[in-house]
Amino acid sequence: MTFFDELRRFDGFDFQGFFASVTDADVSRIIAKERLSGMDYLALLSPRAASHLEPMARRAQELTIRHFGRAVQLFTPLYLANYCTNQCVYCGFNTKNPLERRKLSLDEVEAEARAIAESGLKHILILTGEDHKKSSVSYIADCVQVLKRHFTSISLEVYPLTREEYAQLVAAGVDGMTMFQEVYDEPVYLELHPKGPKRDYRFRLEAPDRAAQAGMRLVNIGALLGLHDWRQEAFFTGVHTDYLQRAYPDIEVAISTPRMRPHLGGFPPKVIVSDADLVQYILAFRLFMPRGGVTLSTRENAKLRDNLLPLGITKMSAGVCTQVGGRATGQEDTGQFEISDERSVAEMAEMLYSRGYQPVYKDWQYL
Ligand code: SF4
Repeated sequence: MTFFDELRRFDGFDFQGFFASVTDADVSRIIAKERLSGMDYLALLSPRAASHLEPMARRAQELTIRHFGRAVQLFTPLYLANYCTNQCVYCGFNTKNPLERRKLSLDEVEAEARAIAESGLKHILILTGEDHKKSSVSYIADCVQVLKRHFTSISLEVYPLTREEYAQLVAAGVDGMTMFQEVYDEPVYLELHPKGPKRDYRFRLEAPDRAAQAGMRLVNIGALLGLHDWRQEAFFTGVHTDYLQRAYPDIEVAISTPRMRPHLGGFPPKVIVSDADLVQYILAFRLFMPRGGVTLSTRENAKLRDNLLPLGITKMSAGVCTQVGGRATGQEDTGQFEISDERSVAEMAEMLYSRGYQPVYKDWQYL
């Protein structure tokens, strides 16, 4: 059994009917509960719960401090390559977009790693676009050998792999993976992914299962907000996280909550997800999954990131560059998307200290 089977339980579920049945008394009762069910979580994502954000925020803050303290892990992404064989209509790396494609040589990876390591960061997330041949598993493993000299935790955000391939990279020194399902609604998923291997909805959906079975320590998932009804997508991301925590109790699970950003090709969001919607999502998730990590990226602007911090955020990116090799070479090519918060690692650390939080550069050592 995988999450694909679990998801089938919700086929034909009447979300609008459920939301219409939620009362203020239901929301207040759920906020006070110690352990929430999946349906409780869905009630907190309802339009009715949008007028209960203050008590939800108080509870979320209490739970976050109880389970994570006032500590926020900092990391940065490193784009190894931007080759891609897919045609996701919402992405600047779409294979049809006319941008210069490249991948870093191992010497360039070393130069990028040195540039990032100067900031003091010890956790890194490597990204490749999705091209199994140009950014092969053996290429990624070679890059990991270089990166291990500088970083103690290396996470992947690459195309979905087989269980054996995940195991190969775990053996090479990778300890975390991020896999965005993008859209949990399968018909919408197929509409937005017209060509390429990414059309295989199930293979992608089950990637976190395969990674966990292969020994990955940290599994981070998420939906890209703006592609479909955000309440449904937030719900499925939450129940996916809950499933992973129950099925693989020894792994650490986390979500990201990315909203669509401007990019080359300019596909507009199908659904506008407001700041208040994003807040409701993060609060509801924290109440449902008190020990689940929440990663907030630089897609959001500095002011919003600072304000969201106490509500349940546990990881933040800093010193971000979405271009391949943009740090060491200073080369300015087209990034995957535009970022909104350009603060350096030092500036992020200063912001955290000023608000009574501790920036964590390292909490894992690969032996
Ligand atoms: S979202 Fe990923 S798979 Fe899709 S076009 Fe962009 S880089 Fe390629």
